[in-house]
Amino acid sequence: MSLNIRYENRPLPYAQGLSSSITFILTDDCQLRCRYCYLHHKSRSHIMPFHVARTTVDYVLSHRDLWPSPAVIFDFMGGEPFLEISLMDRICDYIKKSMYVADHPWFDDYLISCSTNGLLYKSDRVQRFIAKNHEHLDISISLDGTREKHDCNRVFPDGSGSYDRVRENFSLYLEQFPRGTTKATISSADIPHVARSVLHLFSLGVGFVDINVVFEDVWRPGDSEAFEAQLLLLADTMISQRLYEQHSCSFFSADLGRPMDPVYENTNWCGTGRMLAVDQDGVFYPCNRFTQNALTCGKPRAIGDIRGGIDENKRRPFLLLNRRFQSPSECMECSVASGCAWCPGQDYDASSGETIWNRTTFHCEMHKATVRANRYYWSRLRAGEDIGRG
Ligand code: SF4
Ligand code: SF4
Repeated sequence: MSLNIRYENRPLPYAQGLSSSITFILTDDCQLRCRYCYLHHKSRSHIMPFHVARTTVDYVLSHRDLWPSPAVIFDFMGGEPFLEISLMDRICDYIKKSMYVADHPWFDDYLISCSTNGLLYKSDRVQRFIAKNHEHLDISISLDGTREKHDCNRVFPDGSGSYDRVRENFSLYLEQFPRGTTKATISSADIPHVARSVLHLFSLGVGFVDINVVFEDVWRPGDSEAFEAQLLLLADTMISQRLYEQHSCSFFSADLGRPMDPVYENTNWCGTGRMLAVDQDGVFYPCNRFTQNALTCGKPRAIGDIRGGIDENKRRPFLLLNRRFQSPSECMECSVASGCAWCPGQDYDASSGETIWNRTTFHCEMHKATVRANRYYWSRLRAGEDIGRG
């Protein structure tokens, strides 16, 4: 089994994907208006009441049969979760106390995770929270790469870029979390910035850059060729400057681009359905992508709520999701399928809320371009010499 590099320094359940994930959607508010943000309706007033979080925690901890994993990730989402740092702190205190009182096995193996835009990272309240929970924290700050790339998308309401403000806090973040990472996504307009952006993140001290193409129907003719050229440039630079000794990037992985091992035929790409997301109104979802705000089709797909708990009839289809049931035959027969991800939430949205069973393949050519560049990278590394591209 390949390990999730993001969690390679954590206990094995995290690296092997054997942890449960419980997500609290604290707020819809955010200081930024990122152009690719999946959250379609930002609102200042839609904040999770504490009793919603408390009831969810009580429900989850008293239903060990539903979440039998040896470890857990409590994930806090927004909008921007640090806008509600006092609430997050209060919920975390409640979780810790409740796990202790219940003698729950997760008390020894839990992570508190959040992905932040980084703007409030240096604030006293956030810093106090970090000092209090450091050992269990898994924070990632969204920095997309160079100023040019970051400011293409991650803008304030007046349209100005946020790079300088985030960059200011990024050094402190890496000081406090030397293995800290950043998650970047690539859409069509970002392609010319890919190589420089990854190299820029390396130069700031990020060891592992987690960067992926979006699944949506955004790709245009010529994108995969331009993307491959960027990845070859990145591969050449990483090898000629021996950056691979200290850095890695999700585009270059020894496991990428093989026929899918039949052992994975009955598995889903992600844990949707086995995870739980709760929104501000106390409604349960199989993951946050099925909430109203995250869907353009506007048909949320709930699986219960804090009053009645999980409705097994609504959750069951998600538990049945597997590669064979969702994928078109081209994917089942694909010779480079390993590492080609999909998102049932995006599939559901792309089908206008009709079905979770039709896997989309909009990024197919982008994956194939990644596989070609990945092969080039490893063949050069393994040859151990500068063979050039010839
Ligand atoms: S989307 Fe394309 S690259 Fe990915 S598994 Fe399907 S056919 Fe293969
Ligand atoms: S459905 Fe999509 S967003 Fe939800 S866990 Fe799966 S991959 Fe992630």
